[in-house]
Amino acid sequence: MRAVVIGAGMAGLTSARQLALAGWEVDVLERADGPRADGYMMDFFGLGFDAAERMGILPRLREVAYRIGEVEYVDARTGKRTASIDYDRFAEAVDGRLLSLMRPDLELVLLDALADAPDGSVRVHYGAPYDASAAADSGSELGGRLADADLVVGADGIHSSVREALFGDETQFVQPLGLRAAAYVIDGAPDLHAEFDGRFVLTDTVDRQAGIYGLRDGRVAAFLAYREDANDGLDPHEDAPTRLRRVFGGLWHPIDRLLERCPPHPYDDVVAQVVLPRWHRGSTVLAGDGCQAVSLLAGQGASMAIAGAELLTELVGPCRDADAIEAALGEVERRWRPVVEEKQAAGRRAANTFLPPDRFRLLLRRWVLRASSLPVVDALVMRSIAGGTGLKGGTGI
Ligand SMILES: Cc1cc2nc3c(=O)[nH]c(=O)nc-3n(C[C@H](O)[C@H](O)[C@H](O)COP(=O)(O)OP(=O)(O)OC[C@H]3O[C@@H](n4cnc5c(N)ncnc54)[C@H](O)[C@@H]3O)c2cc1C
Repeated sequence: MRAVVIGAGMAGLTSARQLALAGWEVDVLERADGPRADGYMMDFFGLGFDAAERMGILPRLREVAYRIGEVEYVDARTGKRTASIDYDRFAEAVDGRLLSLMRPDLELVLLDALADAPDGSVRVHYGAPYDASAAADSGSELGGRLADADLVVGADGIHSSVREALFGDETQFVQPLGLRAAAYVIDGAPDLHAEFDGRFVLTDTVDRQAGIYGLRDGRVAAFLAYREDANDGLDPHEDAPTRLRRVFGGLWHPIDRLLERCPPHPYDDVVAQVVLPRWHRGSTVLAGDGCQAVSLLAGQGASMAIAGAELLTELVGPCRDADAIEAALGEVERRWRPVVEEKQAAGRRAANTFLPPDRFRLLLRRWVLRASSLPVVDALVMRSIAGGTGLKGGTGI
């Protein structure tokens, strides 16, 4: 059996490995020229953590994980701490099954894990974008590959081209949550690194929130989240560095220094969920953010991408004909959709706590975080945060 997987991210690499272990020949087509070095810190817990354990990659993930003791909120004017989230208590709330991972590290561990598959069963092609017109032309290399495949997995992220080819324009399915998020990593700022090494610091601010943390290789990472409507909307002609400087300039002096060094093309995208009535057509199926994005507000997108891909391949892996594949894809949707919907609902609920829209909700968040140092409140808050929402900068309280 032959599969083509579009996208070498979380869902794509997991799908490729698991299909190959089930005896499939897999080609992975990735648009980027290689694994991406840039990224952001992620909380990794929940169903994807369980899947990673079953896949046997947890020991490696533990090796590359960061130790984050706490997330500190600071007053952007004074730099003084206003509240904090204790990560050890979070970890306890999920029985210690929580890792802080940089996205590129998670991707590299998944890439290395392809070595578990039989020799030559997975081929990853970088610099190989999916393109709908080439896909429709069976004379093209891409079209030929797809025509030969028993299964095509569209794991090409939230702005999936495979989804567009199957079901139409993304405006029907991508549901913006009113926020944008940006992230990038800079080199050559040793003083900032010294100040933020081992720390994850967020401004305690309304409508825009800037985060900074030091990485183990001496680089410094920026995480910026902002409300579109409260920050003059989005001018399509404005490039991302200019927009980020406009929105965040003057907020807090360490952030100004990060903004000075913003690369020309940082990650800067809408925070959104993906909801669509069907996830497959014939033998082409969507996986990961392309069909089930929960958004960073739910804090489990990568975890869900891995867990969903594991379920997909568990059901499709043993299939040996088109009817069985089609039936298995229906079953994946039946089982997995309710899980996704629950995480998406939690993500939507978290929006105002993640990024308070007014001072009242900012103070409320501060109060709840402070109160969580009391044992009774602590148990409730920690369980609520770990239950469905992102930890760093986003609490579900
Ligand atoms: C700032 C931020 C913080 C986050 N924090 C967390 C967190 O704490 N915990 C968590 O679990 N999740 C978190 N997430 C979400 C998580 O990153 C995503 O949900 C996850 O990466 C989705 O995996 P995926 O494989 O579906 O897509 P992606 O990881 O986006 O991978 C898609 C791949 O497809 C490739 N591709 C795209 N188009 C094409 C094409 N036409 N042809 C070929 N290849 C293509 C891309 O280059 C990419 O490699 C966060 C996201 C952001 C933005």
